[in-house]
Amino acid sequence: EAATGPLPGDSRVDALIEAAYAHAATHHEGTVADYIPALATADPAQFGLSLVDVHGGTHEAGDAAALFSIQSISKAFVYALLCDAVGHEAALATVGVNNTGLAFNSVVAIELNGGHPRNPMVNAGALATTALIPAASPERRWLTIQHGLSRFAGRALELDDAVYASEMAANQRNAAIAQLLESYGRIRVDPAGVVDVYTRQCSLLVSAHDLAVMGATLADGGVNPVTGERVVSAEVARDTLAVMSASGMYENSGEWLFEIGLPGKSGVAGGIVCVAPGKGGIATFSPPLDAAGNSVRGQIATAYLSRALGLNLFASS
Ligand code: GLU
Repeated sequence: EAATGPLPGDSRVDALIEAAYAHAATHHEGTVADYIPALATADPAQFGLSLVDVHGGTHEAGDAAALFSIQSISKAFVYALLCDAVGHEAALATVGVNNTGLAFNSVVAIELNGGHPRNPMVNAGALATTALIPAASPERRWLTIQHGLSRFAGRALELDDAVYASEMAANQRNAAIAQLLESYGRIRVDPAGVVDVYTRQCSLLVSAHDLAVMGATLADGGVNPVTGERVVSAEVARDTLAVMSASGMYENSGEWLFEIGLPGKSGVAGGIVCVAPGKGGIATFSPPLDAAGNSVRGQIATAYLSRALGLNLFASS
């Protein structure tokens, strides 16, 4: 079968998706996150894999339609909305793009950098990103973010009320980070409102299929290949992928880039989105995480596909 786009023909991609899924499914390591109480109830056996190419072609295996909270993966897409709203220079100056070398929710990292949040993939930078989304009130900011992420996904994304309530009740650390950013003058709106909106954005329900469409939108220069809608500019898609490459996979971002060679972003509910620029988005959902907080099966399946499809950005052929 001839290739009709930037990937091999459909039957070849389908076979590789099945093989990646079967290979990763043999792994049972990792533990489900429990620091947000509602996440501890996730079924560790659930496993979904989805690839959506830049023409909207879809290849899936397992629980690709199962819903889970997007968590930290929202950080990448809200950052794209911020870049679109304020531009490259302002995003660079206010949120930054460099690694902290410390945990995603580190308070020390903020102190070491004079209150600068450092990058949008850690909680300080994500809270600053949410705070900087132009809006007249926290409620308007939430609606802007929910609508923006829904345009990436090509459908109206909804809140998981139980996850939102559970995280709000266990959110002292994010509240502290937001107040610290306010004390340094890095955010100029009510920090409690920022934490509320950030927690809602993390509680949006997505499937692996949704994430693959969101990733394919970044792969397609900001145009959702399923709806045909331009969500962000090509420059914003490019800048978002650069930041995901540098810091999307917690403290293992370097290892991920070394093994997989593509921008990715993971979340504590077990999702991972990975982007092959000009080709498509790959997304996985499997709740058991490794010590760095990345889905075990998700990393294995994505690495398999990156190699089998020749997607590593640093390969010369
Ligand atoms: N809502 C979570 C938090 O802010 C997201 C964490 C994550 O997925 O890394 O702690």
